[in-house]
Amino acid sequence: MKIGVLGAGQLGRMLALAGYPLDMTFSFYDTSGAPSAGLGKIYSDPANTQAELEAFLAEVDVVTYEFEHLPLSLTQAIESKKPLHPSSESIRVCQNRAEEKKLFGELGIPTPAYRIAESAAELEAAARELGCPVVAKSNTEGYDGKGQAVLRTPEEAQSAWDSIRHPKLVVESFVNFSRELSIIAVRSVNGEIAIYPMAENNHQGGILRYSIAPAPRLDAAKETLARDYIHRLIERLGHVGVLTLELFETEDGLLANEMAPRVHNSGHWTQNGSPTSQFENHLRAIAGLPLGDCSAYRPTCMINLIGQTGKKEDILELPYTHLHLYGKEERPGRKVGHINILADSYEELAERVKACATRIPGIAPFIASINQD
Ligand code: AMP
Repeated sequence: MKIGVLGAGQLGRMLALAGYPLDMTFSFYDTSGAPSAGLGKIYSDPANTQAELEAFLAEVDVVTYEFEHLPLSLTQAIESKKPLHPSSESIRVCQNRAEEKKLFGELGIPTPAYRIAESAAELEAAARELGCPVVAKSNTEGYDGKGQAVLRTPEEAQSAWDSIRHPKLVVESFVNFSRELSIIAVRSVNGEIAIYPMAENNHQGGILRYSIAPAPRLDAAKETLARDYIHRLIERLGHVGVLTLELFETEDGLLANEMAPRVHNSGHWTQNGSPTSQFENHLRAIAGLPLGDCSAYRPTCMINLIGQTGKKEDILELPYTHLHLYGKEERPGRKVGHINILADSYEELAERVKACATRIPGIAPFIASINQD
């Protein structure tokens, strides 16, 4: 099967790496002008020409993507020519925070209290109604904490509005969460659904730094609830492929934050920590193949390499490290690779992660519920 991927970054690269053993081939359509996948056939089209897109579509059997901030007109045009998984309906909802929240509400999935603001005055009113602090987020196009601002007082509305520079904001109550969690599900074209154990995620500066799966000390009832939430979402969207739901854990239970209609950074642990990686299961799903086992072998931690990779030798000297490099140029704040570490217990995992972290220059501090330091 010939798979076409919209976008040519590390997620596309890892999809291809998972798909080659299944005798799949890969083509990438990239409009950024800086494709980094480093394999497959790349259709680099910074000028967005119809001819290049047509050539890409003629080459492939099915289209998927690694980035949901795509123009709907483009995804709908693609859908009229080739199967697109997940569909433009999943993209429409997941690229728009207000639509996401609306769907969460319809499906009875709790979220932080929120308002929509379309001017600085509305932002100020929302901050007063909700009570500060609040988090203002651009309705579309935000990622990795970009397009967001925290307001400590309603008077900060004008400066927050000016800094985000977006015509529509979602304004949320600031959640004092105990930790962030995510859950990843996959649904195949045949309707089969499989769900991975939840991950505990640590963000610093808006960027994911560490994911631990299965999430340590997670109440079984909460996991069951989260599985139920993502089950409702994936069914309602008729979603085909991987769907990720990010949640806050609070004293009062789980609150849904946002969704991504694609393989997700908090699922990279599955490459070494599960019999079937999220990348392989996404491909199985869109190709109509049976889904693979989503269980976790052992406690696993994914360490993101941001800005710099460190020296391969230093990391690989530790016998338990699995290094995944993306072949991207090092730049501050850029995701350039990750490391997966497995252990027999969470205590051992914490020790291993700390030992590994000392070998990575500039690594973010290891913040996790299993780190007692
Ligand atoms: P998002 O792009 O919505 O995932 O937000 C990026 C990060 O900002 C999240 O992973 C949280 O760490 C933080 N954040 C987002 N929304 C809230 C909120 N309502 N309250 C507290 N922190 C938040």
